[in-house]
Amino acid sequence: MKTLLQNFESIVRQEEPLSLHSTMRVGGPARLAAFPRSADELTMLISTAKENNIRYIIVGNASNILFDDGGFDGLVIFTTAMRKIEWNGNTVTAECGASLTGLSAAATKRGLSGLEFAFGIPGSIGGAVYMNAGAYGSEISAVLTESTYLQNGEIHTRTAEEHHFSYRTSIYRSTSDIILSATLTLTPDDPRDIEARASRNMTSRKNKQPLEYPNAGSVFKRPEGAFPGALIEQAGLKGLRIGGAEISKKHANFIVNRGGATAADILCLIGTAQNEVYQKFGIMLETEIIYINEH
Ligand SMILES: Cc1cc2nc3c(=O)[nH]c(=O)nc-3n(C[C@H](O)[C@H](O)[C@H](O)COP(=O)(O)OP(=O)(O)OC[C@H]3O[C@@H](n4cnc5c(N)ncnc54)[C@H](O)[C@@H]3O)c2cc1C
Repeated sequence: MKTLLQNFESIVRQEEPLSLHSTMRVGGPARLAAFPRSADELTMLISTAKENNIRYIIVGNASNILFDDGGFDGLVIFTTAMRKIEWNGNTVTAECGASLTGLSAAATKRGLSGLEFAFGIPGSIGGAVYMNAGAYGSEISAVLTESTYLQNGEIHTRTAEEHHFSYRTSIYRSTSDIILSATLTLTPDDPRDIEARASRNMTSRKNKQPLEYPNAGSVFKRPEGAFPGALIEQAGLKGLRIGGAEISKKHANFIVNRGGATAADILCLIGTAQNEVYQKFGIMLETEIIYINEH
């Protein structure tokens, strides 16, 4: 731990509150939190953590994560300072920490279509590839041509097919590989049309989602033939509040932090929704948000 602090003084913080870095604004302290600025720095950081037996996790913008109230007794590596973007005609290569919404806006300006669905998703490119982020009938898998990743200190490349993308998942979910960058191929179109589609999606988000409160996006994945929000609402749970957490009155597949919510409050709401929906409809809701509880 001393070595890591000494070698990476400018990018490592001790006892960093994870609530400051998650869109849910929940989570206790990380023993160490690091913000590498390049793939080289990330690679060196991980090899030092491994040499010193320090457990680590990789996080993007923590917009799909619920950190535990006890925090994380190890190293939380945030990629958000790794945000280089290189354009080459219709193709763009973005580092893992680049903002998905930022990239969508930049593509619009360049008259490149394919990321309109992503405007308003508050994640990073790495998180989007890991989760196969999607909305409004499209997903990152529709535009991704390859990604690079770190595995045992070496950089490799994966083609689109090798990602085995499906609904909210990719091969990265079943490996400990770290996504370093993604290359996307977009399609030229009239910037006004692209902008109209992106802003239509954003308006729909504002109308349907409780963006006025901290949240982590959809809590549950869509089960076959049903919508979690409708099931939770029909189970009479819309607006249910435990501590500072609430099943949103605006959209029942969102849990919002109404002030001072803890991970325990949120987990209680998640369990209640799962139980009630199962009792009523025989459907077991599976969480989309990822709970980090290794403390
Ligand atoms: C208001 C709101 C709206 C949202 N709308 C949508 C939506 O429409 N569609 C949708 O799909 N999602 C949506 N989300 C959820 C979330 O924004 C996306 O899943 C996003 O892609 C997650 O990116 P992130 O950087 O925040 O990932 P994080 O939450 O930081 O991490 C998610 C997972 O990815 C892993 N990960 C992150 N970066 C890397 C990396 N470089 N290498 C390896 N693993 C990595 C993490 O370990 C973690 O397991 C929404 C969230 C919010 C708060």
